[in-house]
Amino acid sequence: MFRIDAHLHFNANTPESLAVLEKYDLKLLNICVATDNKGKWRSQAEMWSARTRENPKRFAWITSFDLPRFDDPHYADAEIENVRRDLSQRGAVGVKIWKNIGMEVKKPDRSWCYVDDPIFTPIVEAIERSGKTLLMHIAEPLGCWQPLKEGTPHYGYYKNHPEWHMYNKPEFASHARLMESRDSLVARHPKLRMIGAHFGSLEYDVVEMAKRFEKYPNFGVDTSARLGDLLLQDSKKVRQFFLDFQDRILYGTDYVNTEDQKKINPEVVKNGYSYFRLMTDQWWDYLTKSGTVKINDKEVQALGLPATVLDKVYFKNAQQWYPDI
Ligand SMILES: [Zn+2]
Repeated sequence: MFRIDAHLHFNANTPESLAVLEKYDLKLLNICVATDNKGKWRSQAEMWSARTRENPKRFAWITSFDLPRFDDPHYADAEIENVRRDLSQRGAVGVKIWKNIGMEVKKPDRSWCYVDDPIFTPIVEAIERSGKTLLMHIAEPLGCWQPLKEGTPHYGYYKNHPEWHMYNKPEFASHARLMESRDSLVARHPKLRMIGAHFGSLEYDVVEMAKRFEKYPNFGVDTSARLGDLLLQDSKKVRQFFLDFQDRILYGTDYVNTEDQKKINPEVVKNGYSYFRLMTDQWWDYLTKSGTVKINDKEVQALGLPATVLDKVYFKNAQQWYPDI
């Protein structure tokens, strides 16, 4: 079955990696992450646009824009120009905002710069005018604000990235405050399609996600990197959520492998691909199969979604939410 992985960072530039995509009949939506305000991150834009140019059947991409330059009066104009060029001439299908907005970037007065800050308004309006989509990774899973506990879905990430672990750091914004900033932007631009990456950081409860969907028709989510969180919830409830919001959920893994595959150790390459296949297979088992399946050595209840819903989650929704993908 044709599938679009609507959220990942996979530089699949070798015949071996392309063979993996062919085998799964997969198209990859590669995503830029802006980590600085001087355009250094744009090496990603070069890489993802090159993959897309070489093989538009298997690749699409999403651009981003520089973090704020508060002292630069031309910041918004310059970024709008870059975004416009990426969207209209270089085939990008959307624009990404990362979690550093709200969790890392501060304004000159040392307060947090949230995603609904006026500095972004002209850029967001330009994306809206372009008819493309805004992808937002705002905040983190709720576990980010809780004590580190072995066996929980994001334990490994926060153990390796303590700088993003927010437990006991009252000087940082709360999960609720970040959700408020995101929701306020979604409410302010009802005509702009917006995708919340990683289940919109409401991965801990499908009921919370449902509330946003009911409130904001322009809001969808991708599933990337949140399978473990769904597995903690009652599978009947999760299944009903997928049925109720079958037009708003986009399949994605968040597989990360940005190295030039031609230049790295073949053994590393092989391990990387088997991890990608594992992620792809685990989601497949969970979404498509009925009864119990084994995921990470645990017996879990699969969702067994109907074929019409699987088509939507696996590719039709990506085509709707990211036109021209
Ligand atoms: Zn990602």
